[in-house]
Amino acid sequence: MSKKIPVGILGATGAVGQNYIYLLQNHPWFEVTYVAASPRSAGKAYRDVVQTRWLLGANIPEAVADLVIEDANNPDTAIGKCRFVFSAIELESKDAIRDLENAYAERGIPVVSNASAHRWTDNVPVIIPEINPEHIAVIDAQKKAHGWDTGFVAVKPNCSVQSYVAPLWALMKAGYEIKRMIVTTMQAVSGAGYPGVPSLDMIDNVVPFIGGEEEKSEQEPLKIFGSVVDGKIVNADGPIVAAHCNRVAVINGHTACVSLEFGEKKPSLEEIERIWTEFRGLPQELDLPFAPRQPIIVRHEQNRPQPRRDRDEDKGMAVSVGRLRKCPVFDIRFVGLSHNTVRGAAGGGILNAELLKSKGYIS
Ligand code: NAP
Repeated sequence: MSKKIPVGILGATGAVGQNYIYLLQNHPWFEVTYVAASPRSAGKAYRDVVQTRWLLGANIPEAVADLVIEDANNPDTAIGKCRFVFSAIELESKDAIRDLENAYAERGIPVVSNASAHRWTDNVPVIIPEINPEHIAVIDAQKKAHGWDTGFVAVKPNCSVQSYVAPLWALMKAGYEIKRMIVTTMQAVSGAGYPGVPSLDMIDNVVPFIGGEEEKSEQEPLKIFGSVVDGKIVNADGPIVAAHCNRVAVINGHTACVSLEFGEKKPSLEEIERIWTEFRGLPQELDLPFAPRQPIIVRHEQNRPQPRRDRDEDKGMAVSVGRLRKCPVFDIRFVGLSHNTVRGAAGGGILNAELLKSKGYIS
């Protein structure tokens, strides 16, 4: 008998769900035992539903291929089959996703979510384990408020912010206030799920609009940088962020061009590079299986980072930064890059679950 923790995936057939299945092969702690998707897929073998749209290499992992897909809308089907679930589901509304994730938690099944539905619930932590692991403390208040015993909901932030929040946080942690910034993102098509944006809209083109993405890019960092007060997250006051979000013809990897202004104290470029290179967080201290050894990798080539060359750094979990230079309008500018379906989605969710397990919330 396997001693690994049995885990389920809601939305297992989608772009993010497939990444979970792929990344969890041979995970030392977790084993996929339950897959769920829409009623269209329910009752069929995973292999039969996904084989013509499998996105990750040649073969669907054998251990999952023959699992029968359950209807994710019926959380009772998860009872006894898994100890917690990763949520990578897309429904008709955020309210529907929020209610469904709560229904799993109510049945004693913790939910580690990729969806945005719960990101503004003040007793639900939005976790990047290198930045705000202490936010998981609000889970106790969340369970109490709902009368839940073992179940709870914890989420990860939007994929677009992953390319710049760790570099920002490293500077803030070193004592440099960031007052305001402008970020322009170039986001991969996989960020829109499968089949995503029509090819005739994407080839030979850039689409300068992604619904809801600029609001998330501007507001989510404030919750991530916030603090825990009386069982709730209170948002940070700054930095003020202005975002331009663009969809570009890249398969994986979100790029962000950032210009930012510091408070009174301004680090030199050499100091910034040292701070980024030396930055470590709790996942590295705990040596969690999905933790990148070096969360921020500084590139010196004049034309890096690039999605194709840099997105897979350290299992796709490291953020690459480059083109660090003075800004004639603000103080500095740089380019950040992260793998949106790994660090920004399934890999980030797995790291969150590892943190929650190491702190006793998942057992
Ligand atoms: P996707 O490729 O469109 O996959 C959606 C999944 O939801 C599929 O498994 C689908 O099952 C299932 N689903 C659709 N309608 C359903 C219904 N009525 N009932 C139950 N299940 C249903 O989307 P995705 O890109 O993987 O995104 C999944 C979630 O992660 C979204 O909330 C998204 O915002 C978030 N996210 C995505 C990324 C990214 O880079 N893609 C990054 C961060 C967060 P069927 O195959 O049976 O239709």
